[in-house]
Formats: sequence, C-alpha cells, structure tokens
Amino acid sequence: MRKSSSDEIIRIPGDFYALRCFAANQRIHMEEIIRKLLDKGNELLNQPYRKIEFTGVTEANELLNDLANHSHAFVLACIMDRQIKAEKAWLIPHEIRRLFGSFEFGKLKELSRQKIRDYFRDNKLHRFINQMADNFYYAIQDIEQKYNGFAANIWANSPRSATIVRRFLQFRGVGVKIATMAANILARDFKIPMADKYCIDISPDVQVKRVFLRLGLISQNSTNEELIYSARELNPDYPGIFDFSAWEIGRKWCRPTHAKCNDCYLRRHCPKIMI
Ligand code: SF4
Repeated sequence: MRKSSSDEIIRIPGDFYALRCFAANQRIHMEEIIRKLLDKGNELLNQPYRKIEFTGVTEANELLNDLANHSHAFVLACIMDRQIKAEKAWLIPHEIRRLFGSFEFGKLKELSRQKIRDYFRDNKLHRFINQMADNFYYAIQDIEQKYNGFAANIWANSPRSATIVRRFLQFRGVGVKIATMAANILARDFKIPMADKYCIDISPDVQVKRVFLRLGLISQNSTNEELIYSARELNPDYPGIFDFSAWEIGRKWCRPTHAKCNDCYLRRHCPKIMI
C-alpha cells in the first residue's frame, strides 16, 4: 500500500478489473492513476467558491449561482438536465424569467401548469415539452409545500449526502444520476457543508465512462452500475470525487477518436495510451 499525496491510502482490491490491464509489476501505474484523479478532485474541492459557468450566458449564470435568493433556479435547472445538451437545459430558468418577466419564487408559484407548457412548446425549451414542463411545474409546487418556498432548505443545516440525494429523488422525473450530480455540484462547487459525502456517486456521463474504460478502471461492456461501484470501491468516502477529473480528461484529451494522449497528464501511466 502506498499513500496518495492527499494522505489517503489507495486500496485496490486484488480482483479489481483494472489489475488485469497491467503487468503484475506495474500495479504502481494504477495507483498513480487513481492518486492523480483524486488529487485533481481534491484540488477543485478545496478551492474557494468561484462563480460557476453553467451556460454561455452571463445573466443565466448569475441566476443559477444566486443560491441566496434564487436557489430554486439551481434546483429547477438540475431537473431540466435530461436528454438534451446540458448548456440548453441549464438555460431554461433564465428563459422562463425572460418570458414571464420574473423568477421571484412568490411570482413563479402563480404560474399555471398550462402556462408553463405553453412556454415550453412555443419556445422549444426542451425535447420533451409536456413532460418536462410538468416536471418544472410540480417542482415549484414541491418547493413551496416541502421547503416553505425556499429550495435551499434542501441542503440547509449540513445534512448527510444521502438526505440531499433522497430529497432530489423526490422531485418528479429525477433519477439517481441527476440527484447525485446536484449533490456533487453543491458539495464541490458551491462548497455547501454536508455531514458526509458517502452518497455522492460518480455520474455515469459518457466522457467519464470512456475515460474510466481507457484507464482500465471498468471493463469493456460495463454497465453504469459497474462504473458507480468501481468509484465507490476506490474512494468510498466520496465516490463522486472522480467525476470532474475524469470528465475533464474526456472533454479535453480523451476524445472518442484521435485522443490527444501527448497532452494528457495520465500519459505516463495509462494502459491504453494512443500515441
Ligand atoms: S493517456 Fe490517452 S487514452 Fe489514456 S486517458 Fe489520457 S487521453 Fe485517454
């Protein structure tokens, strides 16, 4: 066992899939990969809060970052992030504000289900118009009834990560992927205090999955569940710590074709180096 630079012991089970990708005497490469992914995740986690660029539109980002006054915008954007490009989904609260003239919760809760459907349909806000318009409408009702109209109550008073994930799961149309993504953004980017991070899983995003596969951390035909459990196995205290580092590698260098391995910081250890 070796210690990572973050002083965490890297525990790799003897039958872990990735070990088959390396010669027996090259276990050190796998430990290095995991250590570097952890270091990158911890680096981001330990940075002070900086405004998050969810979209390319400044006003939309300001709305989404304003947890003090518009925490419902962040929650509603998370709920919209399904089966369309994230940048488009995260613009929806801003678009509704533009169309309706306000995003104050007191006004928003007066919007009828039909009016929201009309906004979604007339402005092509989402691929699944009625379904997502209804999810938007019912989320507003839930925030009003369960959280006294203040969505930040979902994560108030340093709850366990499981509590936050469960609360997101209670919104109509939200699955584990969105619920853990929301909890991860709150912990990692917004620096929201939580009692633990055990239940913040890695998101089975296409980039993350490709990088985990090429690094030998999951098998060729692995399911999303295998990805999630591999991350849990490697870092049980906070499995979602791998989310950003793997996503960044996938987005910048580990492209589906023509991977830019020369520029990737894992090139010295990667079993699938494509140079
Ligand atoms: S070295 Fe190449 S194949 Fe390996 S993770 Fe980096 S970009 Fe992907």
